[in-house]
Amino acid sequence: MLLKTIIKETVSLQGFKIESIGKIKGALLVELMPDLRYNPLCGRCQKPGRFRDIRPQRHFKHVPLWNIPVELAYCPRRVSCQDCVGIYVEHMPWAAGKRRMTAAYACFLATWARLLPWKQVAELYHCSWGSVCSAVRHVVDYGLQKRDLSDLSLIGIDEISRQRGHNYLTNVYDLKTSTLIWSAPGRTKDTLADFFKLLGPQGCQQLKGICCDMWRPYIDVVQQYAPQALLVFDKFHIVSHLMSAVDQVRRDEIHEKGKDHKNLVTHTRFLWLKNPWNLTDKQKGRLSTLEKLNLKINRAYLLKESFRQFWEYKTKGWAARFLKKWFWWATHSRLKPMRNFAWMIRRHEQGLLNYFKLRIDNGIVEGLNNKAKVVSHRAYGYRTAHMYITALYHCLGNLQMPKLLHRFV
Ligand SMILES: [Zn+2]
Repeated sequence: MLLKTIIKETVSLQGFKIESIGKIKGALLVELMPDLRYNPLCGRCQKPGRFRDIRPQRHFKHVPLWNIPVELAYCPRRVSCQDCVGIYVEHMPWAAGKRRMTAAYACFLATWARLLPWKQVAELYHCSWGSVCSAVRHVVDYGLQKRDLSDLSLIGIDEISRQRGHNYLTNVYDLKTSTLIWSAPGRTKDTLADFFKLLGPQGCQQLKGICCDMWRPYIDVVQQYAPQALLVFDKFHIVSHLMSAVDQVRRDEIHEKGKDHKNLVTHTRFLWLKNPWNLTDKQKGRLSTLEKLNLKINRAYLLKESFRQFWEYKTKGWAARFLKKWFWWATHSRLKPMRNFAWMIRRHEQGLLNYFKLRIDNGIVEGLNNKAKVVSHRAYGYRTAHMYITALYHCLGNLQMPKLLHRFV
């Protein structure tokens, strides 16, 4: 089989021919020329245009063959297009936009970039880190363009922190398909409003349920753009607020009672926060000893455990009744953090009870957030938030890849 045949079978060359294949500086150089039986197509609208002139030769890096670098070389023509009114460089079916690589090479690098650190991908396939970035950007841009959000009805909103600090990203997930659909730096009203603007009035109208934390800026924006959607406060966030309240009680008590108490309850944090059925026998023994001492933390623990029942109700009415009772206990517990938590859920009661109308939670988001962390480690050196977001779309967005003549990976 000739090299020419392999190239023809793996690169879309409709309207073009291979002029020659040679080896220059250790790389296979495939020179292309136009097939004059066809009119050149406008690069903008892909309709036939009128030939105008020829531009200098351009090189396109292509997927290496047996680890031998491959490059395509071609002198693009310019055409004048009636539809676009102007002069444009012709459409080259193998090219990845204006990049100096073929679409196939971009997909090839991007596929590996999902699995390996980008630096390794660059080393393995003899290109720069920047080329890997560029390849990922190409496939993500393509995927976002082709994406169809018309079916979107249940979304989860969450935030992740970048660089272990106060650098937040707001992420929006499709709860039905478990994919990331939108991400942007910040966690203000304006950040989230941008998402709803992108979705457009019709898209917002279609939303049936939105799950998020009890975070004022998000709530306001949701009510402004999608008032018809049921706002459900995320179960996992609520539980985590409750856990922090319990932990605060433990810390306050240590602070209040001093050293002896500290020795007594030291290393007990997990006893109070873990689900009782996950405790080891030794831990269970320790917990029951502590329970006899009538500590504040113990009262907080009992409140936390009883709150579990809330999620098990079948109907909104019974859940509301329970919540009322629990609120009374918590506010009469003489434990400030528990009281604060109780008031917080009282203020957001409707959103909590909506869970019994539409049982959605951000459970899947947890998993995706963990993946996002992996992406961030792999990404070592995403210098900008923008690049990190591109990487997130690439790994969590389930985006469509450009169609190729041949599957290289
Ligand atoms: Zn055109």
